[in-house]
Amino acid sequence: MLGPPGAGKGTQSQRIEAARGLKQLSTGDMLRAEVASGSDLGISLKKTMDAGQLVTDSVIVAMISSRIDQPDCANGFILDGFPRTVAQAEALDTMLEERKMRMDHVIQIVVDQEAMVQRISGRITCEQCGTGYHDTFDPPKTAGECDKCGPTNLIRRSDDNPDTVRARLKAYDEQTAPLLPYYQDRGVLQDVNGMASADQVATEIAGLLDAA
Ligand code: AMP
Repeated sequence: MLGPPGAGKGTQSQRIEAARGLKQLSTGDMLRAEVASGSDLGISLKKTMDAGQLVTDSVIVAMISSRIDQPDCANGFILDGFPRTVAQAEALDTMLEERKMRMDHVIQIVVDQEAMVQRISGRITCEQCGTGYHDTFDPPKTAGECDKCGPTNLIRRSDDNPDTVRARLKAYDEQTAPLLPYYQDRGVLQDVNGMASADQVATEIAGLLDAA
């Protein structure tokens, strides 16, 4: 699942996971879990992430490579936030080849980057179940409560502030956008309009997945 920060990769991956039983693998979530553990690696990751920069390829590749061997990935998985550099994409190709797995879809969620700062700056997530909301565009039904869990902590990521978001968008343009020709040249890249509502985007993606 490709697209700049805020495009809706996480939201759409969660929906595909729920609808199709494929495992969502979010490198951002894995890194945040490492940060929360308080390990030395976590402390250094937090600095990189709060600066809006990308974590070293070798750390990410090792993380994904061991994750996809877990039993919950046996029926297939959705890569959310990976690959983010051409080196990661090359490592992914090797990883899949070694396991005789194939990539069925490469979906790009196309958005207007200018709108992303506002979209990301309002994001909040239920601490218990991970459901995402937005202060303005998609608030929970009752303020301070998760629609699924009831009263809960709705948390804001430390890198979801306007300065860090701009740095993350810059990293996307410089390091991740070169992936688009990488997949375009193979004729596997499929675009969806990420400026539509989350429901409409989900329908568009479902159409692509079902067409295969
Ligand atoms: P995300 O939750 O996908 O927005 O990722 C949050 C942060 O985690 C990014 O801004 C990066 O610092 C780091 N990160 C996540 N995935 C990757 C990746 N594939 N390569 C490098 N850094 C990553």
